[in-house]
Amino acid sequence: MSTHANTKMLSEADGYDLLRKFNVPAPVFEIVTSPEAAAKAAGKIGYPVVMKIVSPQIIHKSDAGGVIVNIKTDEEAKAAYNKIVTSVKAYNSAAEIKGIIVEEMAKPGLELIIGGKIDPAFGRVITFGLGGTLVEFFKDVGIRILPCSDDELRSLIKQIRGYTLIAGYRGEAPKDEEFLFQTLKNACAFFEKNDNVTEFDINPLRLYEKGGCAVDARVIIQ
Ligand code: ADP
Ligand code: MG
Repeated sequence: MSTHANTKMLSEADGYDLLRKFNVPAPVFEIVTSPEAAAKAAGKIGYPVVMKIVSPQIIHKSDAGGVIVNIKTDEEAKAAYNKIVTSVKAYNSAAEIKGIIVEEMAKPGLELIIGGKIDPAFGRVITFGLGGTLVEFFKDVGIRILPCSDDELRSLIKQIRGYTLIAGYRGEAPKDEEFLFQTLKNACAFFEKNDNVTEFDINPLRLYEKGGCAVDARVIIQ
């Protein structure tokens, strides 16, 4: 994902807020600017939590040591705050640190990606595939031109090789394909109704046997 001089990346928090308006579920979160506030927020949200860097210059937060998952106590929350800030500064000394986002930790699930971009020839397109850390490795994604019908979205889901993981691999219970379809449709509506959004990705969307949840959101606006 690239940002150009005339575009701006929204914070993960602002991305979640926008997506929630289109019924894409996202974690409960709070933005904090001190270790003590991190522990307080985590206590309020309920352990375990995930903490991540909030910086406009850090596009891939994990690469910068900017994500810590499974934080279980106030002490861990305070230590995680300092660890993230130190790692990110070492990674990019010019990065402006706006704070840390403390999020409810989503349970494990199948990690998928939903993305949108503007193709020079076709205009707004939606992409869908396997997500999380597997996304670059497998390159298992499909694409549709917007606007697109329910049938086209359903075929997009079934088209990826990873569909077998959604349908229930080797006796595993199937994942919630209906929720996925609805969320894909909601993401399309979000992209089509926000003219200023030029690119976005939800990576990952965690999909469960029932429901699912976005646990990262990058939204680029012009
Ligand atoms: P990056 O900017 O590196 O893509 P992410 O926000 O996607 O950072 O976090 C990296 C990984 O951490 C995610 O792919 C997901 O597996 C895990 N993760 C992030 N946020 C949460 C959360 N709220 N609950 C559970 N796991 C999370
Ligand atoms: Mg991510």
